[in-house]
Amino acid sequence: MIYSFSRLKLYDTCPMQFRLKYLDNLEEKASMPLALGKAVHKGIELKIHGVPHSEAVLNGWAEADFHPEVSYQDISRLVNNAPIRKGGKTEVYFKLPLSSFPSAPQLQGYIDLIQGNKIVDWKTNWRPYSVLENHQMGLYAWALHKLKGYQWIEGSLYFLRYRKESKHFFNLLDIEKARTWAETLANEIESKLSILDMLPEAKNQLFPDSPSKSCRHCSFVVTCYKNTKGSVLRNDRKENLCI
Ligand code: SF4
Repeated sequence: MIYSFSRLKLYDTCPMQFRLKYLDNLEEKASMPLALGKAVHKGIELKIHGVPHSEAVLNGWAEADFHPEVSYQDISRLVNNAPIRKGGKTEVYFKLPLSSFPSAPQLQGYIDLIQGNKIVDWKTNWRPYSVLENHQMGLYAWALHKLKGYQWIEGSLYFLRYRKESKHFFNLLDIEKARTWAETLANEIESKLSILDMLPEAKNQLFPDSPSKSCRHCSFVVTCYKNTKGSVLRNDRKENLCI
């Protein structure tokens, strides 16, 4: 399997949701937040490349298949909030091995914007958070370090709803911390996949449910309920997770 920050984060949050999505390939309906994010990212990318605002927003909306819960106005407002500076590269794809071992798992990702040693990720979230709250930008900084050799990388999350930025200058220590997190989780998943080949009936033990606030947005809640004989709802009541 090729890993990404979002795959690893999903596994870290709920191994069962990870399995249902990436191993069982269950269909997941395009949620409003996901569709909005897609549309806004496309709109900003096009504006950076000189496309007029209305055309960029329309193309962004099309990118999200004109999702019924996403409006032109919402996309337009968020695209308008992005501080558009010309120059740099957008949607930069990388795929790199997580260590020098020949069998090392690979990590891929798209970096929204790279300008020299600065990387930016646009966020449409309702809740802003610190760039150090998870390893996303640490991993993207690691990728840029591998590709360009920079020793210091400015990683920034830009929360479009609030025009608010959370940034950090990642040094080699920060980068290594993020890489180690990713490698440890990826190796753990790889080991479980080998066991799963031999013991397919152990899938619920290898990739157990982990009820949390994420259950509210999980497309697989019905399957999860059946797999766990309802433990997800019992935990919901206990922890008041409000599915
Ligand atoms: S409903 Fe909750 S516990 Fe079940 S798979 Fe989804 S996130 Fe995991």
